[in-house]
Amino acid sequence: MAGHITELVQGYIRQAVRFLLPIHCSSCSSLLTDDPIPHFCTDCWSSIALMPEARCSRCDRPFPSSIATTYSPTHVCQPCAERPPSYTKAWTLYPYTPPLQHAIRLLKYQGKVSLAAPLAALMIARLPPLESIDLIIPIPLHSEKLRQREFNQALLLADAIGQSLDIPVSYTNLIRTVSTPAQTTLSRKSRLKNLRRAFAVRHPHAILKRRILLIDDVFTTGTTVNECAKALRRAGSADVFALTLSRTIDTDIIPDRILAQRPFHRIF
Ligand SMILES: [Zn+2]
Ligand SMILES: [Zn+2]
Repeated sequence: MAGHITELVQGYIRQAVRFLLPIHCSSCSSLLTDDPIPHFCTDCWSSIALMPEARCSRCDRPFPSSIATTYSPTHVCQPCAERPPSYTKAWTLYPYTPPLQHAIRLLKYQGKVSLAAPLAALMIARLPPLESIDLIIPIPLHSEKLRQREFNQALLLADAIGQSLDIPVSYTNLIRTVSTPAQTTLSRKSRLKNLRRAFAVRHPHAILKRRILLIDDVFTTGTTVNECAKALRRAGSADVFALTLSRTIDTDIIPDRILAQRPFHRIF
């Protein structure tokens, strides 16, 4: 009852503030009224696409056709078959496309930390079975980048997931020892070179034989997650799993009906 009243009061405050200071949806520019998610209208938020059904059973890479997993649900993609990753399984929950892409950028680059809770809620809504996990670790930022940004978006997400699952979160043991340029601007080969041995475990005894879940916001090539898993396994952990909010994806792999539903958006 008290929770319901708090929600009601928060709703009134939100409406009053938005009446005095009109705020527009960051995706479709429509005026926000009592939409519960900061910076986004309810229509845009509910249009966040899901990943295609057929995906690699190891790295979650979507296959161009659903035939790939129809007869063999454990089918793995060619890169995983040729060079199995150090993590046991990665789950990548939503395609990195607007409006989710906008929301992640607002959180990371414009410091809109009020989006951390709704983004974590998107992850919690689609959690895979994680009963056997002992410890959650967010992908660390280098201390220099942490100083610039003032927060680690992966830690905000990990913290909410840890609370929801009642699993401890460790955020000081795995560290990034090498400061690397923004990964999105580099080729796959340069990313690999940059990230090799970029992570270290400060207290190996604290992760010894523990089953670990890594958390991050965006999965691009998987190199970052894989290098973290490598460092953890080298330091003596048991299986390492990875859960990321979103994944960069070829837009031709997203079904047309989802793209057609997508509202007009501003690019920023
Ligand atoms: Zn909108
Ligand atoms: Zn794969």
